[in-house]
Formats: sequence, C-alpha cells, structure tokens
Amino acid sequence: MHAPRSYVCGRFVDGTEGPQALVNPATEAPLATIRSGGFDRGEALSYARERGGPALRAMTFAERGELLRAIGKAIHAARDPLIELAIANGGNTRSDAKFDIDGASGTLAAYAELGKAIGPTQVLLDGDAVQLTRSVRFFGRHIAVPREGVAVHVNAFNFPAWNLWEKAACALLAGMPVVTKPATATALLAHRIVELVVEQKLLPDGALQLVLGSTGDLLDRLSGQDCLAFTGSSETGHLLRGHARVVAASVRVNLETDSLNAAVLGPDLGRGAPAYDLFLGDVVRDMTQKTGQKCTAIRRVFVPRDRLDEAREDLLERIARAVVGDPSREDVTVGPVATRAQRDEVHRGIARLAAENKTLCGDGALAPVGVPAGTGFFVAPTLLEASDPARAEAVHAHEVFGPVATILPYATADEALAGIRRGGGGLVSSVYSDERGFLRTMALGLAAHHGRLFLGSSKLEGHAIGPGTVLPQLVHGGPGRAGGGEELGGARALGFYTQRTAIAGDRPILDALFPTATPTPPSDRG
Ligand code: NAP
Repeated sequence: MHAPRSYVCGRFVDGTEGPQALVNPATEAPLATIRSGGFDRGEALSYARERGGPALRAMTFAERGELLRAIGKAIHAARDPLIELAIANGGNTRSDAKFDIDGASGTLAAYAELGKAIGPTQVLLDGDAVQLTRSVRFFGRHIAVPREGVAVHVNAFNFPAWNLWEKAACALLAGMPVVTKPATATALLAHRIVELVVEQKLLPDGALQLVLGSTGDLLDRLSGQDCLAFTGSSETGHLLRGHARVVAASVRVNLETDSLNAAVLGPDLGRGAPAYDLFLGDVVRDMTQKTGQKCTAIRRVFVPRDRLDEAREDLLERIARAVVGDPSREDVTVGPVATRAQRDEVHRGIARLAAENKTLCGDGALAPVGVPAGTGFFVAPTLLEASDPARAEAVHAHEVFGPVATILPYATADEALAGIRRGGGGLVSSVYSDERGFLRTMALGLAAHHGRLFLGSSKLEGHAIGPGTVLPQLVHGGPGRAGGGEELGGARALGFYTQRTAIAGDRPILDALFPTATPTPPSDRG
C-alpha cells in the first residue's frame, strides 16, 4: 500500500500517528495510507526560518520568479501522471483534473512573470517619497520586505494542486518559506508535486515543507513573523483564527471559506440572447465541474419571475445531459464527491434545502455508469426552486458543497440584491444582462459584499472564462461568510507575506538606499 510521507527538515519522514485510509471515491478501492507526525513540528518551523527564509531573502524577486517558472514547467511536464492521480484520488474527470493541475501551473507562470516584472530587487517600494515638514530634507516613504517567519498553509480537499500553488507561489515570490498541509483525503496529488520539486531540486533547502495529516502542535509554535493562510470550511477557519497562540502572537491570518455565490439573470435576457446562453452555461458548469466542489460555484440562481418557466426548462435540459459515473471514463462528465463523509454531508444539505424548496431534479434516477450499483460516493446534479423565496432560509445560510443549486425567482433589482446579500458575504457573484443600467445597479449594490463580480453580457460570448475560475490577476476572497480574506490579485498578494515599513529620514539618504522605482505596491492590508 502506498504510504506517502511528510517532507520536513530536508527529508521524507515516516508518520507515526493514526493511519487514515485513502480510497478511490468512484470504486472505493484502497489507494494509500497516511500517517501524521514522525517529526518535531517545532523543528520543521525552525528549519524553514533558519534555512529556507534566509536563502529566499538572499534572492531577488526576478530570481524567485524563475524558481516558480521551473516548478510550473515541472508540473506541466508531469501533467499526464498527475491527471491520473487526480482522477483516482479526487474523483476528478479528466477535464476536472486539468482544471486543477493547469490552474496550478498557470498560477506559477503568472507569478513567475510578476517576479520578472518586479526585477532584480529585494525590496518593494510602496508609493512615492513624501515631504513631511517644511524642510526639503526630511522625507518619508514606505517599503515592504519579506517577513522573517514561515508561511503555514492549510488547504481544502477540492483543489490539491491549485490550492497549494495559489498560496505557495505568492509566499515564495515574496521571499517567505512555506509549510503546506493538504487536506488528508486528497493529499496524493499535492504529495506527488512536492516529490517532483524535491527530486528536481527546484527550491532551496527549507523553502517548502509538506505536512501530511494532522497539524499537531504546529500552530502552538507560530510567532509574530509567521503567516497562516487557510482554505476550507468556515468552522475550521474560525477555529484557526481563534487559536490562542495565533491570537497571542498576532500571527497574520488569511481565511478563504464558504460562499453562497449567486448568479442573476437580468430581466432583459431570454432565449436567443448570447448572454442568456452564458448564464445557462455558467450555472450548469458550476453544478457539474468538480462535481460542484468549487468554493466559487454558483449556489443561488436569481431569475426574473416572468422568465422562470423558460430558465427552469433550459437549465433542466442542460443538466440532463450530465453523465454521472466513473470519472476515468471519457463519456463521464460528473465524478463522485471526494469522500463518503462528503457525500453524506451533501445529502444532509440537500435534505435541508428540500425541506423548504421544490426539488426539480436530483438523486431519484441516479445510476452512475461504469461502477457496480451502490459503489462510490456519487450525487446526482440537483436543482431546487424556492417556492417562497422571501421565507427561504437554508439556501442563504448553508453551503451544500456538491452539484447543487437553487433557483430563486425575483421581481425587482432591489429584491435580487436583498436576496443575494442574505448570503452574508461571498467570493464571487455573476450578473447577466445587456442593459448597462441593470449591470451598474447590481455591481454597485453587490461590490461591498463580494471579493469579485462577473458581468456576463452578450459581447463576451466566446471571450470570457466563467465566474467559477479563480484567476491569478484578480483577487480571490470575500467578506463575511467567505472568511474576510484576500489572495492572489497579482502583486496585491505580496502584501500578506511582506512587512510594510515607513521610513523617515534625510531625502538623499532615502534615495540612495531605495533607488529603484518598482511597479508593485503591496495591497492595502493594514
Ligand atoms: P475543512 O474540513 O475545513 O478542512 C480544510 C483543511 O483544514 C484541511 O486541510 C483539514 O485537514 C484542515 N483542518 C481541519 N481541522 C483542523 C484543525 N483543527 N487544525 C488544523 N487543520 C485542520 O474543509 P474541507 O472540507 O477540506 O473543504 C471544503 C470547504 O472549503 C467548503 O466549505 C468550501 O467552501 C471551502 N473552500 C473554500 C475555498 C475558498 O477559496 N474560499 C476554496 C476551496 C474550498 P484534514 O483534511 O486533515 O482534516
């Protein structure tokens, strides 16, 4: 049985704590056994701080960018076996697996380019020098330098490759070493990628360590120079943010958590409008891609009341084309969810939604292809409709992390806005319309409640990537339920891993110490 090992202090170590079995979620065939621990977590952090940090900080942004480029290329070169691993361990279809793995190498390439653009410098300048008094000598300016601790990354199960690199690329480019912990259930892909990085010696010693299974006492050992970035459920996120050591040491924390993302069909759109097709395509893709296990997936579908029959019929017709089954088959478009526990959780969530909404399609006729009946963690794409949207509660409160969405009819733009805001803060919502007035009302009404908005209009047909894809150039994160965090967004991501410092002094000295203008203001994170 494959027994993946943590990689810490420059070596792979055998775990010693409680074995956890990993299975293929389509066939339930055993794949691997993961054991946590087997090393001193404090030593792993020290190794990062004493070996990885100084090695990275000795390099320029351009040089660190080249490290990322090499990792992206290594992942791309190993794409086919990595896809096989994602199919087996994650229940991904081939297309889902590519989405994750190419997302990782694409993010690495984008941050490699950013490193090149920032250039041969170790310091970021933030804004211009400003005169502080009447004297023309006394000036101040802001700089940003890498924090001298460790970036600890705790990741979710749904994107083991992309989730690793959307965090690690930013930390490494900023000059911080990384300790990454993948979700246990789907850890094989992240483990294999770290093996590739180690085998090919793509990073300096201590720049990247992999902790499998439990974090144990890792968080108890964090310091004020460290960063903790988390992706996963709100519940775990709150636990980590409230961790006594994290609070006491003012460890910088970023949370990416649940989100009840909405799609709004504008009142002007119906059959024949390209933007209407965009809307149908995005909703159904988000329900089926990765079996709906995307933090950005559309969960709430706001449809004008007088367009309801048409939109319902068209959505159901497209959903009916989905083929659920063994994701290693070419004809299958929807694989299983990642684990038995996840399937049971999705079923509980659907029951909660079904208690106050009509179920339009779902598990009733589920017969996954390519697997014996009763095997695997399958859930049919499930569409519900709010019978009484004003009274619906669960749909605005509970994220069902599977192939599930609910239609909510609305009468006015204000009603749609109020309904979306009931989600309590989200990662992304999308609005489909060709009327600029409607798009403006929705964009301004939703911006404060989201990290990202997608405006789908007819001219975008054939040009746009849907709202479910997180792009390295745009920020990812959102207020409230979504965790209050922010990742990616090009150079903005560097703000989390750097310390912004104001420096006041004699202008000629400041100019001599920090001469180069760089194009990279870190984010405005306080
Ligand atoms: P989860 O159960 O909260 O687990 C997330 C990570 O936290 C895993 O690595 C898990 O490790 C670890 N963990 C759990 N308890 C911990 C503890 N007490 N101390 C330290 N680490 C702990 O979430 P999940 O089920 O993997 O992911 C699904 C959720 O993630 C969904 O709600 C989804 O919306 C959210 N998500 C959000 C985003 C985003 O960017 N906002 C992206 C993807 C997913 P083990 O696996 O070893 O338990």
